[in-house]
Amino acid sequence: MKHQPFESWLYERETLTKDQTRDLEDHLEICASCRALATAWADVEGQILSASLIAPAPGFSRRWRTYLADHRRRISHRQMGVLLLTTAVGLAVLSVLFGAELLPSLQQAVPTLVSWVGKVANLVANLNVFRLVMGILVEATLENIPLVYRVVLPLSLAGLAAFWVFSLYRLNYRRITKGVIS
Ligand SMILES: [Zn+2]
Repeated sequence: MKHQPFESWLYERETLTKDQTRDLEDHLEICASCRALATAWADVEGQILSASLIAPAPGFSRRWRTYLADHRRRISHRQMGVLLLTTAVGLAVLSVLFGAELLPSLQQAVPTLVSWVGKVANLVANLNVFRLVMGILVEATLENIPLVYRVVLPLSLAGLAAFWVFSLYRLNYRRITKGVIS
C-alpha cells in the first residue's frame, strides 16, 4: 500500500486543504500502519502541549534560584576540594619524585660542594693576604726609596726596555736584510 503523501500529511494537518483532509481520513480508515502513526503522533503532540501548559507552582522561581545558588555552592565547594586534593597529591608526588631523584646526587655533591666552598674561601683569604703583603711591601719600598729613584727607576727601566726592543728589532732587521742580500 502507498503511504505517501498521507504519512507527511499527518504532521501538517492544520495546513491541509479540505480535499487533502478527506483523502487522509479515507486512507487512515483503510491503513492500520498510518492509523497507528497518527495515534502515536497525536499522543506525542498532546504531551508536548500539556507539558508546556503546566503552570509552575507558586514561588517556583524563588525556589529555583535558591536551588541554583545551593547547587553552585556545592559544586564550587566540591571543585575547591578537588583542587586542594589534586594540589596536595601533586605536591606529595613531586616531593617524593624529586626527593628520590635529588637526594643521592645531593649527598654525592655535598663533599664536592664543601671542598669547593673551602677552596674559594682559601683563595679569597690568600688573595687578601697577598694583597696585604704586596701593599705593605709597596708602601715600605716607596717610603724607603727617595723621590729621585721613584722617578728615575721607572724611567730607566722604561728606557732599558725600549733599548732592548730597539736592539732586537735592529738585529732582526739586519739579519733579514743580510739574508735578502746573500
Ligand atoms: Zn498508510
